[in-house]
Amino acid sequence: MQETCVVLGGAGFIGSHLVDRLVEDHGFHVVVIDNESTGSFANLARWRGSDTVRMVAADITEPLPEDRFGVRDAAVIFQMASPASPIHYRRLSLETLLVNSVGTLHALHWARELGARVVLASTSEVYGDPEVSPQTEEYWGHVNPVGPRSCYDESKRFGEALAMEWHRRHGLDVRILRFFNCYGPRMQMDDGRVVPNFVAQALRGEPLTVYGDGAQTRSFCYVSDEVEAIVRAGMRDHLGGRIINVGNPEEHTILEFAEMVARVAGVPLQTVRAELPVDDPTNRCPDISRAEELLGWRPQVALEDGLARTIADFRARGAAT
Ligand code: UDP
Repeated sequence: MQETCVVLGGAGFIGSHLVDRLVEDHGFHVVVIDNESTGSFANLARWRGSDTVRMVAADITEPLPEDRFGVRDAAVIFQMASPASPIHYRRLSLETLLVNSVGTLHALHWARELGARVVLASTSEVYGDPEVSPQTEEYWGHVNPVGPRSCYDESKRFGEALAMEWHRRHGLDVRILRFFNCYGPRMQMDDGRVVPNFVAQALRGEPLTVYGDGAQTRSFCYVSDEVEAIVRAGMRDHLGGRIINVGNPEEHTILEFAEMVARVAGVPLQTVRAELPVDDPTNRCPDISRAEELLGWRPQVALEDGLARTIADFRARGAAT
């Protein structure tokens, strides 16, 4: 019998790429649970009607159903369910707080029943506006607990604390991954993050909206690299209770990034300044030594190559019109 994995939030951007990889490269049967609040089962259209991927429209913040969605055993539960774009998590602030706390609690409880591992998607946002660079997993962060981003930052931090207590108290095998900025095909074109905004604007011949002076930095990891790290974190033994940064350590200012998007899209660079959002982190760059050591992983896809693939995907989905 095929082994099963459960992917909570598997209809989302990263989640759906993870589902593809688990099926295609590792032969798993996958149960996807998603309420399509920011994802869409359309991302998994190729699996419709297959026995290999089962899609369940449900909200993981609701109590788990008695029949546990018909899942009788599973090797890994991947908790990937949460809005992730700043504009989405502000719009869905209470839902974000709940999915990363109550939703994660349900994931942990369910995994314990099943004897499954948990891979918990956390975020570099737990570091807030960091005072050290690059950020190692030991850094405790510099986070505004009550600002407009706190629904995301603090619920992810709570989710980490909860997962670690389930590991300590119940011996649950939990692996926590802190994702830095990730990008690639299937990002929603209007999701408001810098990659979709700049790519869609470049393809429409519009100026790129640079928030603030554009001197803030980010480090962008292509989604196929990201998914490789997630799968390794789920498959390798002896990682219970480990926390691992997952991201690309190549750091760019937002202005440099705007130039690169225009160049790769083959359009002249035009920018327009807009207000810097409150609590926008000034820098973000992962130290990935731990991922290299524990997962044997480092990103392989250069930013220009990943951007070219993302631009092609946005073109194919009609971004230029
Ligand atoms: N940003 C920008 N223009 C945009 C969207 C975002 O200059 O149209 C900036 C934003 O202020 C931040 C960085 O790009 O400094 C990354 O923002 P994003 O929303 O992608 O995610 P974050 O890393 O802040 O969670």
